[in-house]
Amino acid sequence: MPAPLLSIATTPDLPPSADAVVIGGGIVGTCTAYYLARRGLRVALLEKGRIGAEQSSRNWGWCRQQNRDARELPMATRSLALWDSAAQEIGETLGFERCGLLYLSNDEAEIATWARWRDFARGQGVVTHVLSAEEATARGQATGRAWKGGVFSPTDGIADPERAAPIFAKGVMRAGGSVHQGCAARGIELSGGRVASVVTEAGPIRTPVAVMAGGAWASSFSRQIGAGFPQAAVRQSILAVAPGAALPDALYTNQVAATRRGGGGYTLAISGRARLDPTPQQLRYARHFVPMFLKRRRALAPGGMQAWKAGHETLARWRLDAPTPMERVRILDPRPDPKQIAETLARGRALLPALGAAAVTAAWAGYIDSTPDGVPAIGESAIPGFIVAAGFSGHGFGIGPGAGEMIADMVAGAVPALDPAPYHPRRFAQGAWGKVADF
Ligand SMILES: Cc1cc2nc3c(=O)[nH]c(=O)nc-3n(C[C@H](O)[C@H](O)[C@H](O)COP(=O)(O)OP(=O)(O)OC[C@H]3O[C@@H](n4cnc5c(N)ncnc54)[C@H](O)[C@@H]3O)c2cc1C
Repeated sequence: MPAPLLSIATTPDLPPSADAVVIGGGIVGTCTAYYLARRGLRVALLEKGRIGAEQSSRNWGWCRQQNRDARELPMATRSLALWDSAAQEIGETLGFERCGLLYLSNDEAEIATWARWRDFARGQGVVTHVLSAEEATARGQATGRAWKGGVFSPTDGIADPERAAPIFAKGVMRAGGSVHQGCAARGIELSGGRVASVVTEAGPIRTPVAVMAGGAWASSFSRQIGAGFPQAAVRQSILAVAPGAALPDALYTNQVAATRRGGGGYTLAISGRARLDPTPQQLRYARHFVPMFLKRRRALAPGGMQAWKAGHETLARWRLDAPTPMERVRILDPRPDPKQIAETLARGRALLPALGAAAVTAAWAGYIDSTPDGVPAIGESAIPGFIVAAGFSGHGFGIGPGAGEMIADMVAGAVPALDPAPYHPRRFAQGAWGKVADF
């Protein structure tokens, strides 16, 4: 029962050359290619498996400013505006709606954290309502419980993970770009120290610009040309239940979170709960991740060897004229943790009586790729023309459009709508541990 995903037909033949090649057809790669194509550049988007089949179809669908780190808030705000406009531009729904996000709690420390964020956000022009006990209990009626407090962020929303990346990929093709599924990029060829072509399993594409938006695969790929960066993934397990219940569109509690799906059912998950499956790359970058893992330690549990076997975090080098790890694993599809799935369902039913015995329609896991400070790594590496865009640390779905537009601006030489400086991966080489995202 994998995560549901819209199938789309893509471009059969690779172009011999392009102004830019985007590697990875998740939300970040599809949005980057989309905004590049809309700027009139000749763009080719490569996806080793199916568009959207890794993290971008496995998430809750939250597109939020609420509780965002200061470094990421401008990208979150910009992304909401782009979510609003993109469906109209493409002419198909992305399932995006500014339905507002509801957070409920009985933990005074948690409520105080939200109030602090509200004070910070006010200075940034973002509206969020901290709820009194009466307001939280009224908004949380579906739980049948009393709550001490909460937050409602009226301008945030949800989009449909089942459709978003595939529809952006359609937008790429409608804007004149090409999209290639089942086509892994094996590596980059350089000439005079800068990007000259992207070598794929179906042949090379000459290009001066390669954007590596390969999610959990980004660091191992980039390391082949000396542009690796600290990246580690954790495995989260999550499930969907059938339509029927009338619940808030998007509800967080520290017990369980529920999100309405495009088809009317609900996604249920335990926020932050994950397993740490060791990999060679994780061991290599372990010291960078100490602050992050310490901060999240209550929610993390040791996992198994499935990530080691999958190979997305290998330290190996590969050749460009033979199959690579990306051709062996077309879709990174980790096994969900059965205990976590059972616990999530039990907590969902206990918190939301209207779920009743709603049938589980799917259960899956996803590797969430993170950087040491929980802020994405976006920027041109030391190799001119090679741009990294990965490590979205559990927030990349909502901010994918803003990231894609910013990268397109960088490539096209336009003044970026967002300041790219806070995202540049060079911060990891500066020795000091970065501040781990607070919220
Ligand atoms: C359970 C869960 C819940 C989440 N909830 C939310 C949420 O509510 N809101 C939110 O904003 N974020 C959420 N996230 C995080 C979000 O899903 C990710 O940050 C985001 O989808 C990352 O997008 P991406 O494009 O970088 O990576 P991905 O979606 O993983 O896409 C990368 C793609 O690159 C392809 N690829 C890799 N290497 C190559 C290669 N060499 N050649 C060709 N193709 C290649 C892969 O096949 C893959 O399809 C959640 C994630 C999970 C797993």
